[in-house]
Formats: sequence, structure tokens, C-alpha cells
Amino acid sequence: MEDQTVAEYAGRLQSELPADMRPFAAVDKQTTVWPGTEIPYLFGSSITEDDSTLRELIESAVQQWNDSQDRIELVAAEDTAEEAVLFEKPSGTKRLCQASLGYTEGQSTSVKVNDKCEKGSIVHEIGHALGLMHEHQRPDRSTYIDPVDWAKEGNNYAVAPTQYQTAYDLCSIMHYHPLQKPDDSPAGEWFTLTEAGQKSFDACKGDLPTENGCQEVGQRCVLSSVDLSAVAELYPGVKGESKETGEGTVADAPK
Ligand SMILES: [Zn+2]
Repeated sequence: MEDQTVAEYAGRLQSELPADMRPFAAVDKQTTVWPGTEIPYLFGSSITEDDSTLRELIESAVQQWNDSQDRIELVAAEDTAEEAVLFEKPSGTKRLCQASLGYTEGQSTSVKVNDKCEKGSIVHEIGHALGLMHEHQRPDRSTYIDPVDWAKEGNNYAVAPTQYQTAYDLCSIMHYHPLQKPDDSPAGEWFTLTEAGQKSFDACKGDLPTENGCQEVGQRCVLSSVDLSAVAELYPGVKGESKETGEGTVADAPK
């Protein structure tokens, strides 16, 4: 495949994504999707006018979502909106990027980020807010990744009850990088690819942009084609639908 920029990749996906493509990215079984095709978002009061860098990062992440697919549109909401993806800035200066999962009726879905989160990480957090789980928490992950030390229950490496279609997506923006460790765990490589994993990754990475770091497992560069087909499956036109509410918070660990 010829070199391509992120913008070229996004444009090509729009035109080439097969209509019948099934989602592979992991989706939590309890998670509820947003009703309708317009998903409101807001800046909370913790993000002030002075936070221009953070605002720009968030806006560019929102734009990647809006430019990459045509099922849903994140739209700036009125400050009084009760249900919105609510971007907030956590207190403290430590890098923190985390999001609640999916939609909860009558409530906002919190996405906490500061300007130490790069744009791709904010795209990842928005993925959680839309209902996507971590790819590496799928029950079938061990075919593709070999954990060095799968940590305890409850962290971001624990197997989660997810639903998905056939192929595990090592190119997903919802997959962790091997150096992204659970909180309070020793630094180092947390998994390696199995032979099947390497083969699978080789197959998908040629589809990713060639820009810096885009062709790594755990890339925070672009939504993969399977991330987008998962979203297409979750949001086929859900206007007016109301379902059970989901809950959960996913705090992403630093590398
Ligand atoms: Zn995450």
C-alpha cells in the first residue's frame, strides 16, 4: 500500500467501507447506545476559556469522529442539556484520560481529559462514551496476545463480557499498547503478540496511515475500519429508541 496521510485514510474509509461489514470491536453487553443520530457534547465548567489547548484537542478529536463515519454526529449542545457527552478537566496535573461507558438516560456521560491526553487518546475516550469497550478485554484475546502478567480482576486488562463478531482487531484505536499498564502496576511490556496475532496485525496495519506511530498495536492515530464498522452496527439509525441503561467507568492507564 502506498503511503497515505490520516486525512487520505479517513476519506478512503468513507467511500470504501462495505455496507454489510460487521463490527469486530468489543462492545460491552450492558452498554446502551445513544438515542438518535445526533449526540450532544458539552464542555463542563472545569474547562474554562483559558483552556484553549485542551478545547482544540477535544474539538479535533470530535472532528475525527464526525469526519470518519456517517452514522452519528457529535454536535455542540446547549449548556443546559441534561444528556450529553460531558468533557471535564480533572483536578491535578497528572495525565488523566477516562470516560464513562455509553449512554445513560437522563444523565451526561463523563469524559475526563486534560491537555496531556493526545488527540488520539481523546478519540479513544469518545469511543467509550459511544459504547465501545477495550478490544484487548475481549474473551478471545489470548489467541492474539500473550499476556506477561494478566493483572487482577477489575483492571483494564481483565476480560470483560463483550459482544463482537469474528475478527479480533489489533489495529483498533480501542486496543492498548503493550506498554500501557494497569494502574499501580510495574512498568514494562504487558503483552506480546502470538503468531496468530502477528499475522492478524500484519494484515490490518497496511490499512493504517504511515505517519508516526500510526502502525503500532495500541495506535492512537485513527479509528480503524473495524472500529467504524462497530459503530455502524451500534448506530444503524436509532432515533427515538430507549433501552436499559448501562454504567461503568474506564480509566485509561498511561504508558
Ligand atoms: Zn480506554
